[in-house]
Amino acid sequence: MSMTTDALVLKVNDTGESDRLVFLLTADYGVIRAFANRAKTSKSNMQAATQSLCYGEFNIYSGKDAYTINSASAKEVFFGLRQDIRLLALAQYFCALAYELIPEGEPAPDSLRIILNSLKLLENGRRSPDFLKPVTELKLLALAGFAPSLGGCGVCGKSPAGDVLFSAEDGVFCCRGCSRKGRLITPGVLTAMKHIVYSPVDRVYSFALSDADLKMLCITAESYLLHQTGKSFKTLDFYKSLQNEGD
Ligand SMILES: [Zn+2]
Repeated sequence: MSMTTDALVLKVNDTGESDRLVFLLTADYGVIRAFANRAKTSKSNMQAATQSLCYGEFNIYSGKDAYTINSASAKEVFFGLRQDIRLLALAQYFCALAYELIPEGEPAPDSLRIILNSLKLLENGRRSPDFLKPVTELKLLALAGFAPSLGGCGVCGKSPAGDVLFSAEDGVFCCRGCSRKGRLITPGVLTAMKHIVYSPVDRVYSFALSDADLKMLCITAESYLLHQTGKSFKTLDFYKSLQNEGD
């Protein structure tokens, strides 16, 4: 069976002299692994379209044991991200998150849009890495069924006016009088988290935060992500090692 779908190349493994194994985030079938035979030969029209971070239209043959890419045409290659090691590192972390969080076989159009929009905003500089990182982490988690519970205090159910405690482990916030567990976050950070988790995909980037609150959101979202997935990410460690060098 052959299928045509829009997809982003998350990762590429070279297999043999001229072949590639390509990890794709597709709109219609989630994350799949597909072989791109002879993709590395110069005559192949697939050479450009099967590089990592390339977005395009893929025609894929679904065989008994494996997917094979029949043809691919690139729509967006994110050339700008390849020119800056920090932006590239963050982009690769987003791809690693997609690979981790999005299952095979289920449509994932919203997750694909989040990653693509984040990559575009990262490339054109309209939003900072510190803004895009927590937005992408929290929205991908929410789409994958790991949304934190932000409707009210986890103990009394109320929505207090001041700072609250957010537990990355439990995915809930509590009034300071109701619990001692978690990290203190400001009302601004809580509002931003609610916005990210509950907004439709196309509105998720429309909010603003002070630098201090953005920093707090970054720490909170990353901690939540690491707790919920129970994983470490080499791409995240690499991105953060570049941050530290620049400080
Ligand atoms: Zn409470």
